[in-house]
Formats: sequence, structure tokens, C-alpha cells
Amino acid sequence: MLLSVVIPCYNEEENVQLFYDTIVHVFGQLMENTELIFVNDGSEDRTYTYLKQIYEESPYQVKVVSFSRNFGKEAALLAGLEHAKGDLTAIIDADLQQRPEYILEMMDILNKHPEYDAVAAYQEERKEGKVLTFFKNCFYKIINGITKMEMVRSASDFRLLKRNVVDAICALPEKCRFSKGIFSWVGFNTYYMPYTVEERAHGTTKWSFWKLFIYAIDGIVAFSTTPLTVSSLLGILLCIFSGILMMIIIIKTLIWGDPVAGFPTLASIILFTSGIQLLCTGIIGQYLAKNYTETKNRPVYIVKDLLDSEKNKEK
Ligand code: UDP
Ligand code: MG
Repeated sequence: MLLSVVIPCYNEEENVQLFYDTIVHVFGQLMENTELIFVNDGSEDRTYTYLKQIYEESPYQVKVVSFSRNFGKEAALLAGLEHAKGDLTAIIDADLQQRPEYILEMMDILNKHPEYDAVAAYQEERKEGKVLTFFKNCFYKIINGITKMEMVRSASDFRLLKRNVVDAICALPEKCRFSKGIFSWVGFNTYYMPYTVEERAHGTTKWSFWKLFIYAIDGIVAFSTTPLTVSSLLGILLCIFSGILMMIIIIKTLIWGDPVAGFPTLASIILFTSGIQLLCTGIIGQYLAKNYTETKNRPVYIVKDLLDSEKNKEK
């Protein structure tokens, strides 16, 4: 049985060798039946040099898929899964925040419980600020509320997938890939395993608050059209409200005449309605933008260079 391990790397020059040494040490004998797939997501530092060195020196199966530029982690994950040949495929970060030991635990779980198709690790306690935790909680509440899927809070991309799950994920043709949603959308029996996240070995996270915020909006737009329904509902509610207001004004004018008053009310109403209009146009715009990107049908990533130790052996 072959195990593929997908490792997305973006500017991880200080981590890749350390990661390689750690996984080789932890896996031991298992490395004979493991292929490591490093996806170099357009790193601007020396990540590629180190990956090439690993590829050249490693006695094990190593693939290095290099992108022509930085396409983002989602693209790197897809590339890794598409290049994975294993009966089981694990996804793990290069920064050693996720200890490779857990992959062995995941394999144990799948061996003991053959009814499961995937194991997803989730963080038991999050090592992050209260504000971020609050926003993340809100995101999961919203997305689970408006989609029919159950996205488990704190479940990461750190997973072990059986072949059928990998095939299902790779078969999805969409270009805007929100992997948290895709993992839930494809279904299958997933076992959720708690794990403790480590500190980053070197370097810093690539996620700022705004990147996360935009990622969250992307996720909602990719998996639900409820915001469109909400904007239509808002429109209907405003129509009813303005109808009632008009009636009141007509009746007041008929009974008490037409004293010139109510400018502040008028100004507030105009601001309020134009705000709602902009919000709704924005929501529609989000969907239109997604449509636009999808119809352009550009590839999710472009491979500049592929190093594959298996192919070399065949030559
Ligand atoms: N990563 C990537 N492309 C990107 C950003 C990140 O391949 O554009 C990789 C990164 O090298 C790491 C993993 O995705 O292996 C997780 O990234 P990071 O540690 O920055 O995220 P965090 O752990 O803070 O969620
Ligand atoms: Mg990390």
C-alpha cells in the first residue's frame, strides 16, 4: 500500500529540510512505501533549491511540483492531490505546526475503522487571539447555518484521505477552490481526530486578518446563494416599509395639511436605502465575479517544473 504525503510550501526555506528529516525519522520503515509530494507554490526564497537537494539526495520517492508563480495554498493542495498516486493521501503543512506522528495515528484509525474514508485533524485548543477566535466562530456559524453542509469548526486541511475521496475532490471542476467547503461537500465518512498544533518551526504565517476575511467571504459565496436570497428579502421588506410610510404621509397630509417638516427623517431614509442598495449590488457583484472567474476557465495552477524520482527510475 502506497502513502502519498502532500506538502504545500511557500517561502519555507528554513523548514523544508527540517520537515524532511523529521518525517523520515518519524516514519522509519514506512518511508519505503511513501511518496513525498512537495508543491513549491512560487516561493521567492531558496525553497526550490533545498527541495531539489532533497529530491537529489533522498533514497525515497520524492516529487517536487513547482508553480510558475504563487497560486495560493488551495492551488497547491489541488496540485498535490492530482499528483498523488497513493492508496492513502495525507496533507500536511511544511512548517511543522502539524507533527507527522499524527499521520501514523490517522492511518491507525483508518485501519481500525474501515467504515471511515477520511480522517481530519481538528485543533482542540486554538493558540490564537480572542478577536480572531470570535470572527472564526461567527464564520462557522454563518456558513453552517446557510449551507446544508456541516463544516466542523477548527478542522484543518491536515487530513488523511482514501483514494475515492481524493478522486472525488480532483474531479470537481471549479476554479475558485475553497478546500474546507470541498472536503465537506464531497461527503464520505470522516473521522474527526483532535490534535495539538505546534508553534511554527521557522518563518511567519502567510495569513493576515484581511486575507482570512476575504477567504471567508470567498467560502460563503462559493458554497451558498443564501446572501442573494437575503438581499431580495431586504428589498421586499424595504418596499413594504416604504409603502406603509407613504400611506402614513398621505393620511397625515390629508388631515393636517402639508407642513414642511421631516428633513432629518428623509435624509436618514435616503442614506439607509442607498446603503442597502449598495450592499445588495455588492452581493450580486460577488457572485458575478465568481461566475466571471469560472467561465474564463483558466487552470488553477501552472507547473513550471516537475521533479519525479519515480519517472527517473523508469528511464
Ligand atoms: N502555503 C502555500 N501557499 C501560500 C500560502 C501558504 O503553499 O500561498 C503553505 C505554507 O508554506 C504552509 C501551509 O501552506 O506549508 C500553511 O501556511 P501557513 O503556515 O502560513 O498558515 P497557518 O499555519 O498560519 O494557517
Ligand atoms: Mg502554519
